[in-house]
Amino acid sequence: MFVDSHCHLSFPELRAELPAIRSAMQRERVDRALCICTTLEEFETVHALAREHDNFWCTVGVHPDNEDVQEPIVADLLERAARPRVVAIGETGLDYYRLGERSVADMEWQRERFRVHIRAARQSGLPLVVHTRASADDTLALLREEGLEGEGAPVRGVFHCFTETRSVARRALELGFMISFSGILTFRNAAELREVATEVPLEHCLIETDSPYLAPAPHRGKTNNPSYVPLVAAELARLQGRSVEEVAAATSTNFDRLFGPKILE
Ligand SMILES: [Zn+2]
Ligand SMILES: [Zn+2]
Repeated sequence: MFVDSHCHLSFPELRAELPAIRSAMQRERVDRALCICTTLEEFETVHALAREHDNFWCTVGVHPDNEDVQEPIVADLLERAARPRVVAIGETGLDYYRLGERSVADMEWQRERFRVHIRAARQSGLPLVVHTRASADDTLALLREEGLEGEGAPVRGVFHCFTETRSVARRALELGFMISFSGILTFRNAAELREVATEVPLEHCLIETDSPYLAPAPHRGKTNNPSYVPLVAAELARLQGRSVEEVAAATSTNFDRLFGPKILE
């Protein structure tokens, strides 16, 4: 019934608990999950999850926060993207939240890494899983520059774990992207995000846990896992004045539409 469109089951705290997590998913009717890759070093582990479980799929990408890791070139991403059960490029994007001593100008390496991922998405025809934090204008500008012009079809994808404003949501939708809501939607201090969630048309919404982080209320502060995604669906349903079943069905259909033929294979 539910799909978790973004989780990190390869992270040790979740991988160690996989059998229990899979039982909990079954109990909560979370049928499927997309396992997200954050480094090339991690890819084989993430891919194994998707190969070993027929209701898991995976992505290939290097998270913008990861430094001192193998820097991908387009060919690295394309080679892995061509393998079975790899259905998206990412997570990728920009994150200016922890600049430390650095300025935005110093983050050109992050922008270049994001460009590489956008090119790989265009060349493979796969959607992009976009992470953006404190960097929405640059994220949107790069998606426009690299994603819309040049060879291949325009890039598609999702803004995952959405925490941005209504204006960013509108611009993301204009670019043809979906918006994915996480457990943050249930946090007491997220009133502005809940406002945004009332306005995003359901046919462009996905739901996710981003586990092991960001467990939704009433589990806030604990280790998150995909079996909690119905709590995100319930909050989105409440905000949009719909039933949980409607939100579950729409977000599952949206997931299939975005991640496309390789999911339905
Ligand atoms: Zn992220
Ligand atoms: Zn993530």
